[in-house]
Amino acid sequence: MSFSTAIRSELCLISVLGDFISTINRKSRIVSFFGAIQMFGFKIRLISVRFARICITVGLVCAALACDSTHFLKSPTAKSDVVTDIVSGISRALADQRSKLLSDIRYQVSLNLPANKLMGITGHSVIKFKWKADQTDFLVLDFKDPRANVKSLKLNGAKVSWELRFDHILIQEEELRDGFNEISIDYLVGSGGLNRDDNFLYTLFVPDRAHFSIPVFDQPDLKATVKWSVEAPNNWTVITNGAMVTRDKKSGTVFWEFAETRPISTYLFSLAAGEFFEEKEVVNGREFRFFHRDGDTEKVKTNQSELIRLHAQALEWMEEYTGIDYPFQKFDFVLVPDFQYGGMEHPGSIFYRDSRLMLDPSATQNQLLSRAAVIAHETAHMWFGDLVTMRWFDDVWTKEVFANFFSAKIIEPSFTEIDHELRFLTEHYPSAYRIDRSRGANPISQPLSNLKFAGSLYGPIIYQKAPIVMRHLEMRIGGEQLRQGLIQYLERYSFGNASWSNLINILEENSGENLKSWNHDWVEQAGLPIISVRRTNRWVELTQKDPLEKGRTWEQLLTVAYGKMEKNQISSTSTVINMDDETHKIDDLGDIDFVIPNGSGFEYGQFLLDTESQNFLLENVNSVDDNLLRGAAWISLWEQVLQNRLSPDRFFSRLLHAIEVEKDELLLETLQGFLQECFVRYLNVSSQLQVLPDLEALLWSKANNVAGGLSKTARASFYQNYRMLASTEAGKQKLFELWSKKVEVKSLPLSELDQISLSMRLAVLDPDNSEFILKAQAKLIKNKDRKARFNFLLPALSSNAEVRAEFVDSLRDYSNREREAWVIAGLSYVHHPSRAIESVAHISSGLNLLTEIQRTGDIFFPTQWLNAIFDGHNSSVALNIALDFLSENPSLPAGLLDKIEQAIDPLRRSVAISMSN
Ligand SMILES: [Zn+2]
Repeated sequence: MSFSTAIRSELCLISVLGDFISTINRKSRIVSFFGAIQMFGFKIRLISVRFARICITVGLVCAALACDSTHFLKSPTAKSDVVTDIVSGISRALADQRSKLLSDIRYQVSLNLPANKLMGITGHSVIKFKWKADQTDFLVLDFKDPRANVKSLKLNGAKVSWELRFDHILIQEEELRDGFNEISIDYLVGSGGLNRDDNFLYTLFVPDRAHFSIPVFDQPDLKATVKWSVEAPNNWTVITNGAMVTRDKKSGTVFWEFAETRPISTYLFSLAAGEFFEEKEVVNGREFRFFHRDGDTEKVKTNQSELIRLHAQALEWMEEYTGIDYPFQKFDFVLVPDFQYGGMEHPGSIFYRDSRLMLDPSATQNQLLSRAAVIAHETAHMWFGDLVTMRWFDDVWTKEVFANFFSAKIIEPSFTEIDHELRFLTEHYPSAYRIDRSRGANPISQPLSNLKFAGSLYGPIIYQKAPIVMRHLEMRIGGEQLRQGLIQYLERYSFGNASWSNLINILEENSGENLKSWNHDWVEQAGLPIISVRRTNRWVELTQKDPLEKGRTWEQLLTVAYGKMEKNQISSTSTVINMDDETHKIDDLGDIDFVIPNGSGFEYGQFLLDTESQNFLLENVNSVDDNLLRGAAWISLWEQVLQNRLSPDRFFSRLLHAIEVEKDELLLETLQGFLQECFVRYLNVSSQLQVLPDLEALLWSKANNVAGGLSKTARASFYQNYRMLASTEAGKQKLFELWSKKVEVKSLPLSELDQISLSMRLAVLDPDNSEFILKAQAKLIKNKDRKARFNFLLPALSSNAEVRAEFVDSLRDYSNREREAWVIAGLSYVHHPSRAIESVAHISSGLNLLTEIQRTGDIFFPTQWLNAIFDGHNSSVALNIALDFLSENPSLPAGLLDKIEQAIDPLRRSVAISMSN
């Protein structure tokens, strides 16, 4: 899965927030010094210095159907601890026991899909499995609400008595054969794992939602084959994990039969069905098909070849790296409108959020890179996650880390003009820091007692921090050692499961390195070190501190860069120290103007600059030649703002200057992200009013600066930022003219999505005209999916606070929360910064619903829900509501408490900054 940069970005979890949040939250980018760790080893990239190229090479490193046929058993007498431990959801204890008793599982799943989404879906499954007898009291099959949904159940051809406990069907062990058995079950398909719309539906079963819809043994280490057959309306297309075998027309319907898959985990079972367009291409003898619902043929034509090319290139890269051919039968992908995540790696049928892949001509460089990255991420999962799967979801990070780790490498050949070291850092470090510096920081590796709590594992720590840590590991043992270890891991556990410790054991054996202490510091331990700099003209002292003052340390190499301004040019050099202790001193540095402790971009921590370096860099950072070092310096300066060591006003004024002169497009987008967040979150109202006219003028002139040497994608980033920030009277008038197409930015046409988004922003900014604008926009939308989304969001956009309150209230009803991406967008508009005074009243109700959100929502929903609420607030009133909630609800699951702390961390900082200025 990919999470989106919005929180910041990506779940397979490349998750996605609403129109507003996704841009406001777009954060920073960084810099790096060590260069390309390459597939077969790595080389150290030297800091480029215009005059003094004193580079240090380091040799290191680095139903409603009645259950009429149900027969209930008399109360059982448990003979094993596990049976008495059967609880709601899939517990670790149940999973551990079941994995010892069950094997050779094969599912045949037959569904009958009606066109009307209000009609129930009937299902019939045949489940074949091998059973080890006399070990327990019951066979436990998972299925949501079995009393209502099971119609008939047979074991080995005969009706059998069964009992229900929570969402489990229990069959007495005496009824089973030692060896092969077969369950045949008729049922009503549960809605919990399905996403149904009027003319399409799709499954999303991760982490344990397969049993919300169909009966299964729902845990990742009970891999099974699945053979789908589906009867669907005759104008529908059906896509599953398996290749299509037959498609027979019946009266008004079509019967689709699919081939049996290779063994896969139940969370990867997938089905999409409905009115879809199909596109197909063959590349190097391999067929790629994709399915979409976008009737804009021009847009499809513009994107199609690149989508296919990126997938083909990613597949070939992974085959080359692993030496293992693509392990599954066919390669399809489905573009789903407002899909919950950026993508989901179902073998044979990857699902993507359509807007992540179908880009407009006005896309920015970052959007192009992000599209390539999500494609590479999901493709890498075919090996890491699908071919070899974690044994239990506590190790879910092991699949996400490799998907992102390889994604960064895979996209390199497609973007030769990009500094990929810089790209890695801009994509990973700021997002990871946002969580890791909060009071809710969680370690990469987290225990998990029950799959129903798996959602709290996901977030930037596994998507962004884990790949950073993996690069540290690669540097430590060597790129080729890591590769050989991974190949061994894939071969040994192919079509099976493995734990993180299985991989660490292989890497230790192969490299001869003891990795336990590294694993403890970086994988098992939450948070990050505070590394501060003290210096005189003669020496520099670096001190590592545990933010929680528990004496923890994080061992890592620091490339300390330092330098001086000479004849209007900055010269710099660096030295590498092993930060294994609390304090390190570097002597004899001579007369220097600045020290940057994270000089390679590999370093991970809260770096606190000394005052002289901070002041010097603030004024002169644009003169640092090396892109990576310049980016690292900007990241550090941003951190000083967040640590309340540098005034946001001063930082903002330097940013305004920097975006005028910055030449590197990645950095330019990073700086614009800082600019946006600094403006919205950390400038007070009077500062905002003061700087806004200049800001608007600069963004607008840059967006239109066709002759000024800016690329189209760079101009697009200024244009997007302008549309997001303009709010003076003149700015609003310009936005209106853009929306009504009286004004256009040259060669950057306003797409339909842009126009819809702009109408919504105008509705929020200009309440007097909101009704007119939204009505006019509604008439322009032809696409059914977009129209439905627009209509859903209308009450959240209303200028009437009572209507918005009714929208918030409606979210208490699960049926109004089914389209999660719509809900998040709506909440973001309710809590828009310009409405913060009114929307503060809705914070408590949002927090009170959180447990329910986790129980009923998909894995990213709780985090997205919290961010949508808190990202619009800067006030101490809002913070106090959150803090009161935390103190009144100490017994909430720890994972949820952490999520709240993570979401309110920027709010805490904003309040602290405003109180001190
Ligand atoms: Zn993923």
